[in-house]
Amino acid sequence: MKTRFAPSPTGPLHLGHAFSALTVWSHAQSLGGVALLRIEDTDSTRCKPEFEAAIFDDLKWLGLKWPEPVLRQSEHDDEYIAVLGKLAAKGLLYPCSCSRKDIIAAGARPGEDGFVYPGTCRKRPLGQRKPGDAIRLNVAKALSRIDDEMRYEETGAKAGLYRASVNMLTKRIGDPVLQRKETGDPAYHLACVHDDMRQEITHVVRGTDLQAFTPLHVLLQTLLGYRTPIYHHHGLILDEDGRRLAKIDKSKAISKYRAEGFSRSDIRTMIGFR
Ligand code: GLU
Repeated sequence: MKTRFAPSPTGPLHLGHAFSALTVWSHAQSLGGVALLRIEDTDSTRCKPEFEAAIFDDLKWLGLKWPEPVLRQSEHDDEYIAVLGKLAAKGLLYPCSCSRKDIIAAGARPGEDGFVYPGTCRKRPLGQRKPGDAIRLNVAKALSRIDDEMRYEETGAKAGLYRASVNMLTKRIGDPVLQRKETGDPAYHLACVHDDMRQEITHVVRGTDLQAFTPLHVLLQTLLGYRTPIYHHHGLILDEDGRRLAKIDKSKAISKYRAEGFSRSDIRTMIGFR
């Protein structure tokens, strides 16, 4: 059993992250497995080395340990580009020059990640990519290539065997960006799915904020021939009786609590861990 905590160093870790990290490590412990730390820093405009340093520091302070070396996604751009090449060879990618404004102006519906892309550039061949264009996955075309039902297992609150919903993929997610415009940075979905395979992650433990994207991750895994891990999406910070704690500020940085003199066990108790 192998799981991972995969923060993006775009700001300080707050109490919600501490809850997520402790959930990941306790999951690994209860299943006799190992928890990895992975730095998801593909977004070159928002990720900062000082936030990464603070992640290491806060997690160590919380008493967590992980195997070294830690995978830092920004060091593996060439791999993500190679994965894009595989999807391109299948004819599933297209270049997109739309700005957020263009997307809204084209009458896009709201979806899981802002707006569902209305498909303005969908017919453009990849060979006509212009500098600064993003790369998107043609989800409908991708789905048409898959014969088997895309099944995945969820444990936790909504435990069960699920089918990656076509409705969710086409109506609520739409054609995702796999390579960002301007910077050319690989997008989260692509890097995450590739690294879960590369690091042989058997259990993905993460917050319910990412649950809606699991069908997309399963689609990418199926297209790329990767094994689908078991998913466990954890909810809000709970106290020992399973109630949501009202009095704590889960968006407050762990470093602020530390500076105010809170101990590691104070933090653990606050978010329902002993
Ligand atoms: N890097 C993502 C985040 O910080 C988490 C990715 C994941 O656990 O799949 O929200």
